Amino acid sequence: GFNCGIVGLPNVGKSTLFNALTKSGIDAENFPFCTIEPNVGIVPMPDPRLDALSAIVNPEKVLPTTMEFVDIAGLVAGASKGEGLGNKFLANIRETQAIAHVVRCFDDDNVIHVANEVDPRADIEIINLELALADLDTVEKAAQRLVRSVKGGDKDAAATKAVLDKVQPHLAEGQPLRSAGLDEDEQNQVKSFGFLTLKPTMYIANVSEDGFDNNPYLDVVNEIAAEEGAIVVPVCNQIEAEIAELDDEERAMFLDELGMAEPGLDRVIRAGYSLLGLHTYFTAGVKEVRAWTIPEGATAPESAGVIHTDFQKGFIRAEVVAYDDFVSLKGEQGAKDAGKWRLEGKDYIVKDGDVVHFRFNV
Ligand code: GDP
Repeated sequence: GFNCGIVGLPNVGKSTLFNALTKSGIDAENFPFCTIEPNVGIVPMPDPRLDALSAIVNPEKVLPTTMEFVDIAGLVAGASKGEGLGNKFLANIRETQAIAHVVRCFDDDNVIHVANEVDPRADIEIINLELALADLDTVEKAAQRLVRSVKGGDKDAAATKAVLDKVQPHLAEGQPLRSAGLDEDEQNQVKSFGFLTLKPTMYIANVSEDGFDNNPYLDVVNEIAAEEGAIVVPVCNQIEAEIAELDDEERAMFLDELGMAEPGLDRVIRAGYSLLGLHTYFTAGVKEVRAWTIPEGATAPESAGVIHTDFQKGFIRAEVVAYDDFVSLKGEQGAKDAGKWRLEGKDYIVKDGDVVHFRFNV
C-alpha cells in the first residue's frame, strides 16, 4: 500500500489529526476501512468521480482506493542520538513513503507548548534537525564502508561516495537533503539508503478556526516550505475531529455553516496522494465500481497487476474509456457508440481517471 507518516513535536495536534483521519470512514459498510495497528489507519481516498460512475453503473458495491497514515510516536530533541522514543521513531519513519509534518500554528493557553511558545520555525527546525542528523549518521557510516571499494577502483562506489561527500556538510548544518540540489542521477545513486529528509514532505499547518487568513504562523510555514520545495496544507485539526464524528447529513450541514466545500482532511489525503505521484483508475462493473491506485506512468499490465498479479502475467489487452467520456456518454455502450471505447496494448500508459476492463489469460 501507499503510506504517509505523521510526525511533529508533541502537543501540536498529531493525534487529533490521526483520529479524525481514521474516523472519517464515510460509508462504513462499504469501506475496507480498518485499523491494523493502533498507530496505522487506512483512510479512504475521497473521490467524487466514484459517485458519478456509480450513478451510471448502479453497482452493488462502491470501493474507494485508500491511503495509509502512520501516527509516529512523539519526537523530541535528541532522537537521532537515541533519546526518548528516538530510535523507534526513526525506524517507523524510514518505512513510510512520504511525510506529513504537523506544525502548531494556533494559540491556545490551555494547550501547553513543549517550548512554551508557539514558534513554527523553531518547531520545524527541531524535527528537521533530528531527521537530518539521522541521515548524517547514515551518510557517515555508508561513506566509511565504501572507502575500501573506492580504493580498489570500484567506479560505482566512487560515484556513490562522491554524492555522500557532497551532502555530508549540508546535513551537518541540519539542512534536509531535499534542499541539497541533487540532480536525478545523484538521487538515484543514493536511493537505496532511504534517506528521511529526501522523502516527499508536506507541512500540515494546524491553524485555529479563524487562522486560515492573516496568520503569521502560517506565513512562516509557507516560507519554509517554499525554500525547501515542500507543500503546505492548512487545516484546523480540532474542527476536523468534530467533523469526523458526524454522520453524512450532519456533516454536510456543518460544512455548509463553516463555508467549507469539503472536510480539510480530504485535502490532506489528496496532498498525500499527489506527493507520492499517484494516479487513480477505475473498474466499473455491476458487481462493483472501484478505484485503484497506481504510480503515475504505470503501463496497462502494471496497472492490472494492482488488482491481481495474474492479471499482469496474463495481460492481453485493456478496454479503456476516459472518465469524462464515460460520464458524458453515460457508460460503456454510449462510449462505444461514440467511438470513445479503445483497446489498448501492453505499452499503454494508464491515465488518471481511465475506466478500464482488462482482458487476460488465466
Ligand atoms: P500530539 O501530541 O501532537 O498528538 O497532539 P494532540 O493531538 O494530542 O493535541 C494536543 C492538544 O492540543 C489536545 O488537547 C488537543 O485537543 C489540542 N488541539 C489539537 N488541535 C487543536 C487545534 O486545532 N486548536 C486547538 N485550540 N487545540 C488543538
